[in-house]
Amino acid sequence: MTDIPAAVLATAYAMNAAGINRGTAGNVSARCADGFIITPTGMAYDECVAGDMAKVGSDGTASGRRKPSSEWRFHHDIYIARPEAGAIIHAHSPFATTLACHAIEIPPFHYMIARFGGATVRCAAYATFGTQELSNAILIALQDRCACLMAHHGMVVCGADLKGALALALELETLCEQYWRVLQLGQPQLLPTAEMVRVIDKFRDYGKQE
Ligand code: 13P
Ligand code: ZN
Repeated sequence: MTDIPAAVLATAYAMNAAGINRGTAGNVSARCADGFIITPTGMAYDECVAGDMAKVGSDGTASGRRKPSSEWRFHHDIYIARPEAGAIIHAHSPFATTLACHAIEIPPFHYMIARFGGATVRCAAYATFGTQELSNAILIALQDRCACLMAHHGMVVCGADLKGALALALELETLCEQYWRVLQLGQPQLLPTAEMVRVIDKFRDYGKQE
């Protein structure tokens, strides 16, 4: 059986190594039998051990020796709203946060936008960190998508598991960097809706070897 707290911490280390997280910004969680395991609030990942990961039950009750991330509410609400989500990553990664500070929705400038389930990656309206209002805004922006930006804050992605969520977070940060670079040359032409529909369909079995 997977050691979920150890796997959550390993993903947090990987976020640091990949440069999508610095200091105590960001958080990561994975679904467990009756709730989820999440990084503790305000602790640098490299100072954590697996026993510092917190548990939040399906009724929203926290347990463990550390307090859960201040963003446990949106993790909780996403797991309820999205049964297919097995892991969630929130990051203040440099390029996603740059675009989010302009409250920019990412348009179909590149076909890989379809990787997140639609023709755009939306930007959730700003609300104070750790609030139900922020969670509500994220759920709206995530409709039919597995990622969104968060205005004046960062990004959130949900994947089938921790490996999938990390891959999505890295992909989104890459696309945000590319879009930021593209904007230096002016507004790009966007892919037509019909093409994005075709790519979204192709992604349903992209990468499946059997
Ligand atoms: P936590 O340390 O409580 O997870 O908060 C970090 C963060 O990114 C808040 O939005
Ligand atoms: Zn944050």
